[in-house]
Amino acid sequence: MKLAARVSQVTPSLTLAIDAKAKAMKRDGVDVCSFSAGEPDFDTPDHIKQAASEALKQGKTRYGPAAGEPKLRDAIALKLQTDNQLCYSAENIIVTNGGKHSLYGLMMALIEPGDEVIIPVPFWVSYPEMVKLAGGTPVMVNTTAAAHYKITPDQLRAAITPKTKLFVLNSPSNPTGMVYTPGEIRAIAQVIVENDILVVSDEIYEKLLYDGADHLSIGAASPEVFDRTIISHGFAKAYSMTGWRVGYLAAPVEIIKAATKIQGHSTSNVCTFAQYGAIAAYQGSQDCVEQMRQAFAERRQVIVDLVKAMPGLTCIKPDGAFYLLINISKVGMTSLDFCDQLLTDHQVAAIPGIAFGTDDHIRLSYATDLTTIERGMERLSAFVTSKV
Ligand SMILES: *Cc1c(COP(=O)(O)O)cnc(C)c1O
Repeated sequence: MKLAARVSQVTPSLTLAIDAKAKAMKRDGVDVCSFSAGEPDFDTPDHIKQAASEALKQGKTRYGPAAGEPKLRDAIALKLQTDNQLCYSAENIIVTNGGKHSLYGLMMALIEPGDEVIIPVPFWVSYPEMVKLAGGTPVMVNTTAAAHYKITPDQLRAAITPKTKLFVLNSPSNPTGMVYTPGEIRAIAQVIVENDILVVSDEIYEKLLYDGADHLSIGAASPEVFDRTIISHGFAKAYSMTGWRVGYLAAPVEIIKAATKIQGHSTSNVCTFAQYGAIAAYQGSQDCVEQMRQAFAERRQVIVDLVKAMPGLTCIKPDGAFYLLINISKVGMTSLDFCDQLLTDHQVAAIPGIAFGTDDHIRLSYATDLTTIERGMERLSAFVTSKV
């Protein structure tokens, strides 16, 4: 059978593959300490589940508008106004099947052959693949540990060509855990405006900030950059709703209309009663978000201290999200070999940095309990001690 060429142009999601192997080992009774999953380990807060369950009882079980339930689009617009000083109304919002599909829909609506999309490395696994699926060309820009894995305005400027359409910004970042300061965001915004390109800001980890880190949504940096900004967001990470598949884009109306047209012929609306859970997430108390954030903050301290004490490994303390990027270059293995051996011989699941465009690193997710962190880091320590 001859499959479409686009299939061979993309690589399968390595993060999902390692996670699947770890889960299969667990099913076979192996005691695996898993740091691979990119999802919170908490259950969805009760009031959100109750709202969805109530919606089910009320018969919210039918097709809805492709762009999303009007009440949810209103709630999202209000959130973006009050939390982020972004002047959006419901017509600027499309509700999508998670923050992943919001980005996919955006690429389909915006990118065509010949278009270049600038992506800082390390990147979230799906960015370059989505660009390729849309027929565009991902342009990777390597960042440095010295710059905390953040692209500098000069680097961005140097990567822009007449073909550049879009820059992908992700802060707080998966996989680096780094957060761009408001000053850095403003400087990036200036480059966007000067060169008249678009920026998509993936803000899915917005609420997971530590040590007083500040989140500035790039669209709020100036009216000029606001017109060139697309926000990609979702409920998965802050509200522990990964399986619900609710995310959204916020953008100029023209882009939302285009993405809605495409969604109308691909997924139609997001699961109707799930959207009612999302409404409750934004309209209800935000205490649950803060409680989970505090738990992540404590785990972050523990895992960073343990890793910093290991020979041959270096890392930068993250100020957002729930990932720790570890430099393994002194160990002298590829990231894939490192993770494979670590899983097979020491029953610790981590993600090889090659999935994020860097073979010098591995990524640990600390969205897991403290006992697993302590046991897993003992095993990691034994592994690297045997190698260096
Ligand atoms: C998890 C994640 C998303 C979106 O996840 P969904 O489950 O599709 O909402 C988007 N961007 C990054 C960087 C993520 O880590």
